[in-house]
Amino acid sequence: MPSSKKSPSKTAVSPPIETILTTLTKTFPDHPMDTVTQNNPFKVLVGCIISLRTKDEVTMAACERLFAAADTPKAMAGLDLETIRQLIYPAGFYKTKAVTIQTICQELVTRFNSVVPDDIETLLTFKGVGRKTANLVVGLGFGKPAICVDIHVHRISNRLGYVKTKDPEATEWALREKLPPHLWSVINWVLVRHGQEICKPIGARCDVCPIEHHCPKIDVKARKSPKESATTQWVKTLEK
Ligand code: SF4
Repeated sequence: MPSSKKSPSKTAVSPPIETILTTLTKTFPDHPMDTVTQNNPFKVLVGCIISLRTKDEVTMAACERLFAAADTPKAMAGLDLETIRQLIYPAGFYKTKAVTIQTICQELVTRFNSVVPDDIETLLTFKGVGRKTANLVVGLGFGKPAICVDIHVHRISNRLGYVKTKDPEATEWALREKLPPHLWSVINWVLVRHGQEICKPIGARCDVCPIEHHCPKIDVKARKSPKESATTQWVKTLEK
């Protein structure tokens, strides 16, 4: 019986990552944050804070409301906390995010003369800014080489056999070693979209995947068909 799980020996050859990302770029041509952040580093920074554990459509609507009220660090630092909360609601953890956004804006004004830093190490000094956010600001906001690795990029890079890593930070460093720099800014959004819609954490849709022929499907569990589920349920009733 064919299995979706391949042995490690079949994954020794690195997958053609440029071809894979080019194919996925055709499937997912736009970065989901482009329309509201417009490559503005400050908007990318705030948008990324709002997006954590929040659906894209909720993030985009929250960003539009917040940026309509204030679109510079100084203007946003002038908003009271309750106003920020209301503008970004119902983003996940909106109360905590409102505090983070206000604190970051105040720091930008007092420490950086309202200019967003363009390097990862300085961005990491802000409370609430992790490597994912810092890389996105540098890559999407400033157009500099940066690899933003979230759980989707980590999972799919490993399923493809392009890296073999335990966590997103290790994946970022592995990709920095291996991925050609001209693909650094692309890999985030195409793999995030691919992970949201096709290469899902549970129930990867390999049957409709445009890069299936390049993928060894490492550690991918086959999807249960409705028929299998019904059978499993029937067996369970017999066992009672
Ligand atoms: S959906 Fe399946 S075939 Fe496509 S990248 Fe994910 S694991 Fe590979």
